[in-house]
Amino acid sequence: MKSLKENFQKAHIVIIGSGIIGKFNALELSELGFCVTLIDPAQHKNCSNAALGLLMGNIYQKRRGRSWALRKQSIELWPQWINFLRKFNDELNIEKPLIQLTTSEEKFKKLKQFINEINDPDLKILEENSIFIKNINKAFQTRKIKGMISFKDGRINPTSLLETLDKYIKHKKINFLEEEIIKIRKSNNQWISTTTNNAEIISNVIILCNSLKAVDLIDSISAIKLKPVIGQAIEVSVNDAEVDLLSLPKQFNIDGKNIIPKSKNKLIIGSTDEYSAKPEKNIFEKLTNFIDNKPTWLIKASITKQWSGIRSRPDGEPSPIMKNLQNGLIICTGFYKNGILLAPACSKWVAKEIKTYLS
Ligand SMILES: Cc1cc2nc3c(=O)[nH]c(=O)nc-3n(C[C@H](O)[C@H](O)[C@H](O)COP(=O)(O)OP(=O)(O)OC[C@H]3O[C@@H](n4cnc5c(N)ncnc54)[C@H](O)[C@@H]3O)c2cc1C
Repeated sequence: MKSLKENFQKAHIVIIGSGIIGKFNALELSELGFCVTLIDPAQHKNCSNAALGLLMGNIYQKRRGRSWALRKQSIELWPQWINFLRKFNDELNIEKPLIQLTTSEEKFKKLKQFINEINDPDLKILEENSIFIKNINKAFQTRKIKGMISFKDGRINPTSLLETLDKYIKHKKINFLEEEIIKIRKSNNQWISTTTNNAEIISNVIILCNSLKAVDLIDSISAIKLKPVIGQAIEVSVNDAEVDLLSLPKQFNIDGKNIIPKSKNKLIIGSTDEYSAKPEKNIFEKLTNFIDNKPTWLIKASITKQWSGIRSRPDGEPSPIMKNLQNGLIICTGFYKNGILLAPACSKWVAKEIKTYLS
């Protein structure tokens, strides 16, 4: 009888879509000895390339259910994967901590209540005299900003992460096809993926990691619905010698806006809560409305870069969608706001499903 490892080495897994979710599945499955093919016609133009890379895991306040379990697992797995990936990029790291702030007394009260109830040594309320709070309030010329610090959460630079995964994929000689898959079908216990040029790729398993387009390939076998939701970010440049944005924490969130100081006079701001597919008209106003009375340096700041990505949000069920649709057909999509955070937990789940199927 053949060993499991031998079975795995013989099994061919096709991953459709090479964003963070496709690439991470390729990493996990390749490390287990599977033969993997990644297929994507536009892997540099996807949502993953637009992400800010914040890992909001432990900071999540609803500490029960599937979403919490996935976040918790990912936050535990990330440091192990970063350690492993450092062989390919020794600068890759998780920048910690993550700071969550608010200008609302009511929201702050809730944060305090959460911290008191949870009693987690990795989460603390920031005291008024903490250097973080002092510097943030000084920069935004207010006294109203308050919040908490999470020592376990942080940020991975997504560009660096995606580049490192590409290096790994090249090093492991994982097959990569720059093609679009237009049809999948099952024949004689094998899966066939058809490209736009009518080429057919045969595999034992298909994993659909192609975000919104996943439903186009499985229309007749599932009732999964996905909505496109834009995520937008800007880089602003500040023209005020008095301001040093590097005095601020490396990453923080004020009332739903993620903020990452990039240099002494540059700041990245992204929104977590957007609900339509269309770009906002007055993006600067929308992304800087986290404070009522903006300091002059922020009013006068100018946009130096602007970008967005279309995220897939499940319609009628919680995010993300990770399902075994048929024997050998797995779907991983609908990651909405948290694809970077949840990639390790997703690939762990997929590996378990495939091991069970092929054993
Ligand atoms: C501005 C912004 C900020 C964000 N910030 C964060 C953050 O701080 N933290 C976080 O965790 N998440 C963040 N996100 C969300 C995160 O980017 C997404 O959840 C994640 O990128 C989803 O990854 P994915 O691999 O599912 O999809 P994608 O990255 O969109 O990849 C899907 C791929 O499938 C390919 N594809 C489509 N159809 C086919 C086909 N028929 N055949 C082959 N390939 C196909 C596409 O070309 C694409 O490359 C942010 C998103 C945006 C837009």
